[in-house]
Amino acid sequence: EQQLPYKTTNPTTGLVEREFLSLTPEEIKASIARADDAFTSWSAATIVERSAVLLRAASIYRSREEELARIIATEMGKPIRQGRGEVSFVADIYEYYATKGPAFLSDEDMRPARGGEAVVSSAPLGVLLGVMPWNYPYYQVARFAAPNLLLGNTILLKHASNCPQSALVQEEIFREAGLPDGAYINMFAESADVESIIADPRIRGVSLTGSERAGVAVAQAAGRALVKCVLELGGSDPFIVLDVDDLDATIDAAVSGRMSNAGQACTAAKRFIVIEAHYDAFVAGFGERLARMTPGDPLDMATGFGPLASLAGVTDLLEVVRDATDKGARLHTGGHRIGEQGSFMAATLLTDVTPEMRAFDEELFGPVAVVFKVSSVRKAIEAANGSPFGLGSAVFASDLSVAHTVARALDVGMVFINENTDSHVDLPFGGTKRSGLGRELGRFGLDEFVNKKLIRTP
Ligand code: NAP
Repeated sequence: EQQLPYKTTNPTTGLVEREFLSLTPEEIKASIARADDAFTSWSAATIVERSAVLLRAASIYRSREEELARIIATEMGKPIRQGRGEVSFVADIYEYYATKGPAFLSDEDMRPARGGEAVVSSAPLGVLLGVMPWNYPYYQVARFAAPNLLLGNTILLKHASNCPQSALVQEEIFREAGLPDGAYINMFAESADVESIIADPRIRGVSLTGSERAGVAVAQAAGRALVKCVLELGGSDPFIVLDVDDLDATIDAAVSGRMSNAGQACTAAKRFIVIEAHYDAFVAGFGERLARMTPGDPLDMATGFGPLASLAGVTDLLEVVRDATDKGARLHTGGHRIGEQGSFMAATLLTDVTPEMRAFDEELFGPVAVVFKVSSVRKAIEAANGSPFGLGSAVFASDLSVAHTVARALDVGMVFINENTDSHVDLPFGGTKRSGLGRELGRFGLDEFVNKKLIRTP
C-alpha cells in the first residue's frame, strides 16, 4: 500500500485521522507556473490593495480563532489556549505589515554626493518558496508570508507533512481574503522535491524554518541556483541566572521558558546556566515545579502542557536522556513517557551533564531542561557561547549593568533581559551560527526578498 506522507496523526490518541496525496512532479511544475503568472498582477497591484488583503486575512484569522486552534490541537497537540494565542498573534502580524509596512517600503531619496537625483525603490523579486515546520503552524507561515505578500512577491508554501489541515486552511484564508489566484499556493510537495523546486529559474528566493539538516539541504540548493535563502534553524538558548533578588520569580520564568508548547520551540530556554550562589535552590525549586506538571488533553481549556507533536519526538528525547544518565548525569524528575496512547512525556530535569553527553550541545526539542553550574559571570558567558547555536537567550540579573554587559558578549541574535525570549511583531527575530541566516518580523522582515532598486537621474 502506498504511504501518504501528508497526514494528521492525533498526538493525543496516536491515531491517523486524515491523509493527503502529495503532488506529482507535473503538478509541482503547474503550481510554480501559476505562482509565476500571479506575480505579474500581484506585484502590479498598489500597496493599498495589498495591505487591504492582509487586513482581511487578519480579521479572518481572528474570527476563526477557535476553529484554527482546534485544528492544531489535533494535528500537533498544542493546548487550545496556546493555540488561540498563536492565532491572535498571527492576526497581529498581518495587521502590523498591513498598517506599518507601506511606510518602510516607500522610496528613499539618496541625495547623492555627486549631485543630481537618486532614489532607491523597494521592488519585489518574484515567486518565493517557503518551507515551514509544525511547531507553530500558523505563526511560522505568517512571519514569511506577511512581509513578502505586502512587497508583492508570490508564495509557494511547503508545510510540514504532519500538519496538512492547518496548511490547507491558510490557503483558504488567503482566498477568502481576496488574494488573487496563485499568489499563495499550498503545495503538498515532499521534502525530497524541495531541491528541484529551488532549481527552477522562476523561484527567486527560499525561506526555511526547521532543522539544521533541512537548512543545509536548502542552503546548498539555493547556492546552486544563486538565489537568496533565509534560514531560521534550531536553537539551544541559554537562560542565564546571575545575582537575582527574586529567585522564585526567576524559577517561574524558567518553567514557562522551557515548558511552553511542550518545549518544542526554537527559542525555548534549553540550557539553564546558574551562578553557584543560586544553583542548589534553583535546581530544587525548578525540579519541584517540573515534577508537578502533568500533561493533559490539548482540547481542554485548562491544559497548559500537552502531548509532544509525535511519538518520534518522545523517543528521540528519551534516548538523549538515557545517553546522559548512562554517562553519569543526574535525573531529578521525569525521563519517561506517560501513558501508552499518544505522545505524552513527563517534564524532565537533568544536571551534571558533561561534554561527552548528547544533552550537552544538542537541541532538546521538548520538555527536558538541563541545568549547569558556573562560578562567575565570565564563565556564564563562556558556557552560553560554547554552543553551535546562537538564536535567543535570556539573562536574569538584578544589576542591569551586569545584564547589559553579558548581553553584548553573547554570540546570539536576540537577548532578553529579565524575561524569556519572545517574538514581537515589530522586533527582529533570527540567529547567528548554526541557528541560521537572516531576520524575520519588524521592518527587517521586509529586507530579505526585495530588490533595492536604484533609479538615478543626473
Ligand atoms: P524539519 O524536519 O527540518 O522540518 C521543517 C520543514 O522542512 C518541513 O516542512 C520538512 O518537511 C522540511 N524538510 C525536512 N527535511 C528537508 C530537506 N532535507 N530538504 C528540504 N526540506 C526539508 O524540522 P522539524 O524537526 O519538523 O522542526 C523542528 C526544528 O525547527 C527545530 O530544530 C527547531 O528549532 C526549528 N525551528 C526553528 C525556528 C526558528 O525560527 N529559528 C522556529 C521553529 C522551529 P517534511 O515535514 O515533509 O519532512
